[in-house]
Parts: sequence; structure tokens; C-alpha cells
Amino acid sequence: MTMLSVAEAKAQILERIRPLPPKPAPLAEALECVLATDLSSTIDVPGWDNSAVDGYAVRAVDVSSADDNNSIHLRVISEIAAGEAPSVRVEPLTCARIFTGAPIPNGADAVVMQEDTRPHHEGYIAVVESVEPGENVRRRGDDVAAGSLVLRAGTLLGPAQIGMAAAVGAAQVNIHPRPRVGVLVTGAEVVEPGKLLRGGQIYDSNSYALCGWVTRAGCEPLDLGIADDTREDLHEKIDYGLSECDVVVTVGGVSVGEHDLVKDVLAQLGCEQRFWKVAMRPGKPFVFGMRGEKCVFGLPGNPVSATVTLLVLARPALLKLRGLATLDLPSLQAEAVEDFVNQGDRLHFMRGRLEQRDGKWQVHRLPNQGSHVISSIANADCLVEVPEGSTIARGTVVRTLLLR
Ligand code: AMP
Ligand code: MG
Repeated sequence: MTMLSVAEAKAQILERIRPLPPKPAPLAEALECVLATDLSSTIDVPGWDNSAVDGYAVRAVDVSSADDNNSIHLRVISEIAAGEAPSVRVEPLTCARIFTGAPIPNGADAVVMQEDTRPHHEGYIAVVESVEPGENVRRRGDDVAAGSLVLRAGTLLGPAQIGMAAAVGAAQVNIHPRPRVGVLVTGAEVVEPGKLLRGGQIYDSNSYALCGWVTRAGCEPLDLGIADDTREDLHEKIDYGLSECDVVVTVGGVSVGEHDLVKDVLAQLGCEQRFWKVAMRPGKPFVFGMRGEKCVFGLPGNPVSATVTLLVLARPALLKLRGLATLDLPSLQAEAVEDFVNQGDRLHFMRGRLEQRDGKWQVHRLPNQGSHVISSIANADCLVEVPEGSTIARGTVVRTLLLR
């Protein structure tokens, strides 16, 4: 069994992962997906010169001398609301009532704000402020010109980008689909919350936590249930997971105990696999397997180990499947307010708690760092990487990996 650094393990995994093949998706289903093909616009946005305000479309030259003491009277020849195509032409000393977003009629070249006009006798207004040509007019295509690139391939589609695609009329976009990730926990002692615990049994916390992290990583989790520590049950459930999902995550049963059946079963299922002792704490034993384009991550069962290995080793692969280029957890610089001591020989991902003091971020080390201590991750906001045999001294500014 090879001992690998975290960086080496991550690199070997990512080397095998390709973004999922693109497919068209309805716009409403594309949120948080990565665009696979450049999106160009076939139309101008806005589609015509239109009014930026409620007011009157005029010829600027007609009102160039208007002010409070010298109002200019214009005849109102038409009213144009948003969504209407103007049918009139604005001739000298006439104007058209116009509303925000409505097309500028022919002949007019500016809009006088309603506030700069006064009612006059029937059918006329008095303009008390001059306008420059083009004033209060939004030009056709000044947001997006027809034929121009709107969203580049590789863009993560957030709400604003989805709105942009809609604005140019794209009902579908070509995206990398959301990976489906099956989560299978193993262990005869593990039972679902809600049931009564009998001697030696524990509640399954891993499938809930890991399905949650999978969702947060922008993937679709599929809970594959709890497998007994038997070859038959593991075989059936992992096989099902491989048929339904892009990725299968198994939890537990990969240590070197007598019940470490996951590796045997993966071999039976035709997975090419690597078993690593990754030089990290928590979470030493780790399996990475591939069958065709599908991959399997075998995580250790201790809840903190399972979460940390998922976040550090599997999450980058999930993000790469989604087509993303930035694969690491988001980070924040914070000042250590106590020593972070690692006397061991593996990179230690310590759980920390962030606090803001005088506008600066500080990170506290949570007291109990055991790999079985679920509360240490539930109370944490971040992970702090403490290299083997080293101390991050109090007062040092460190990079923290954000969990929230
Ligand atoms: P294993 O890797 O299967 O040897 O499991 C290591 C430890 O994690 C054992 O104490 C298990 O009881 C515990 N464990 C395994 N699976 C889960 C789970 N789904 N939820 C909570 N604890 C678990
Ligand atoms: Mg087990």
C-alpha cells in the first residue's frame, strides 16, 4: 500500500476525470451548471431605441431654448406604451407621450422627463427644460449587439447569467449536466435515525452529511442506503449505484480490518482501483476506483474522516465533472488565536471556528479533534491545514478552508 501526499492523491484522481459530456438543458434547469458552449446573441438588446423615463418623445432642436421662463409648447400627437410599436412620426413642434421602455417614434431624438413638463391647454404640453439629442434614450443594441458573445463556455450559470441567457431569448443552453452521486454507507452496526438503537448500534450520520455535501458541491445525491458487511449486499448496492450514477461514494469498510470488503467487491465489479494510505489526518485509508467513465470513492467510516476526505479528495473531482476550473474549497485568511500543533507525520486538517474581531478574521482551534467527534465538524466553520511535525504559532495568519 503506497503512502501518498494529499496533493499527489488529488492529482492522480483529477488526471482521470473529464467533465461530463455536454447536453442541452431548459434554462430553468441550468442554475449552478457550467455552460459548455459559447452563447452568442441573435438579437440586439434592447431591440430598438427606447425611452429611459416616463415623459415625452421630442425633437431636441424644438426645445433647445426651453427653461422655466421660456416654456415651449408642443402638441401631443400620440401615446406609446412599452410593448407598442409607434405608428406616428414626430414632426416639428409635436411630441409623443412615452413610457419607460417604449420605442422612440420616428422623428424624435430625445425624451423630456415628465417632471420637466407642465400641462397646457387641451392636447398640448409646456416643456420647461431643454434636452440634448439622445438624452433619455437607450440605444438599440447598447446592452448586447446581435452576433456578439454573451456568455463564454466555462461560465458558471448563476441567477444573473441565467437571466442574461433569457434576455437574448435562449430557451435552452448547452451545459455539463449535474453529476449524480450515489452515497452508500456500510456497516452492520449502522441504523437509520428514527429507529430504536439496540446494543452496539449507532445512527447513520454519514449518509445525511455526505448527501448534503454532495448537494452543496452542485451535484445530485442519490442515497443508496445502508449495506451490511456482506459481499452480496455490497455487490448488489454498489452495482446498482454504478448503473444509476456518475459517481459512487462508499463509506466505511475500507480499513485493513477483517471486514474490509469494499475493495474485494469493487474488484469483482470490474473497477480498476487504487488503494491509498493518504498522508492526511483524519482519514488515512482511501480507495479510488474507475469503471469506464464512472468513478468510485471509498471513504473511511469515521464521520469526520468521511467528511474531510470527501471535501479534500472527492469534491475536486465532482467539481471537475461539472466542468468547473476552480476545484478547491473557498478560503479565507485568518489569524490563529492559539497554537495549532501537529506532532504527527501526516497533514492534519484541524477543525476551526472563525470569529470576526475589529474587522479582522480570527480562527480558534476546536478542542476535540478526534476523527470520530461529529460535534467537532458540526461546530466548525473551517479546516486549517497543519503540516506534519509543525506548529502554526498563535498570531500567524493562515489560510482556512471554508465549510460554510
Ligand atoms: P469503518 O471504516 O467501517 O471501520 O468505520 C469506522 C467507524 O466509523 C466505526 O466506528 C463505524 O461505526 C463508524 N461509522 C461507519 N459508518 C458510519 C455511518 N454511516 N454513520 C456514523 N458512523 C459510522
Ligand atoms: Mg464498518
